[in-house]
Amino acid sequence: MAPRKLVAGNWKMHGLSGDIAEIERIAAASRAYPQVDVALCIPATLIERAARAVPGFAVGGEDVHAAEKGAHTGCTSAPMLVDAGARLTIVGHSERRDAQRESDFEVSAKADAALGCGLAVILCVGEILEVREQGAALDTVLAQLDGSLPPQPVGAAELAVAYEPVWAIGTGKVPACDEIAEMHAAIRARLVERLGDSGERMRILYGGSVNGSNAAEIFTVPNVDGALVGGASLTASAFMPIVAAAAETARRA
Ligand code: PEP
Repeated sequence: MAPRKLVAGNWKMHGLSGDIAEIERIAAASRAYPQVDVALCIPATLIERAARAVPGFAVGGEDVHAAEKGAHTGCTSAPMLVDAGARLTIVGHSERRDAQRESDFEVSAKADAALGCGLAVILCVGEILEVREQGAALDTVLAQLDGSLPPQPVGAAELAVAYEPVWAIGTGKVPACDEIAEMHAAIRARLVERLGDSGERMRILYGGSVNGSNAAEIFTVPNVDGALVGGASLTASAFMPIVAAAAETARRA
């Protein structure tokens, strides 16, 4: 049986206290789609207020530090995220791999720290355009996945992998469905090889310019178990059609 679809938003560096009302709208609207898991990963400054405003709705962080505490100015630890009310966190987003020069090893340590505190993890992998044009996308992404998976055994409910081709993030460009299918099948095979049965059931999300117009088609691609959504997750009006498309795909399955 296909896993439940997960549609997660990534607000990046967007959102002030006035935007809690938008989170409330998204949480309320999500109740109409009980067959889909919906989550919002938001700036650390908003997590506590959001978690209080929408109890029962999955609010998460966008990143986490690998250490429990210490001299790491400006960083947020997994216990801090949990304390604020987060249930999950993204790790390894390409914007952090690029701007903060995060290595696969660091991403793996972050995932390990988050899981150790009971947070679910969305682990991002994806190739840059040059790599795709060179025909090296599969090898690159699988190597990233190998290096970024946490060292401890992990259950299917605790970790999701998000395939996010870097060239598709925030650009309006989306790979062809057969390119997504090829990559997701390769990720599935590697997850099964590494994690056995959990790898079979683990969710693989697609991320990169997903919106209300293209989500339905993307969700029909084999091994696409949901989406990680940036720009279109900032408002209920843009985000909910994606959740509705996931629900419709689940209904037809
Ligand atoms: C993202 O940043 O994870 C993302 C997928 O962004 P967008 O949907 O805006 O391309």
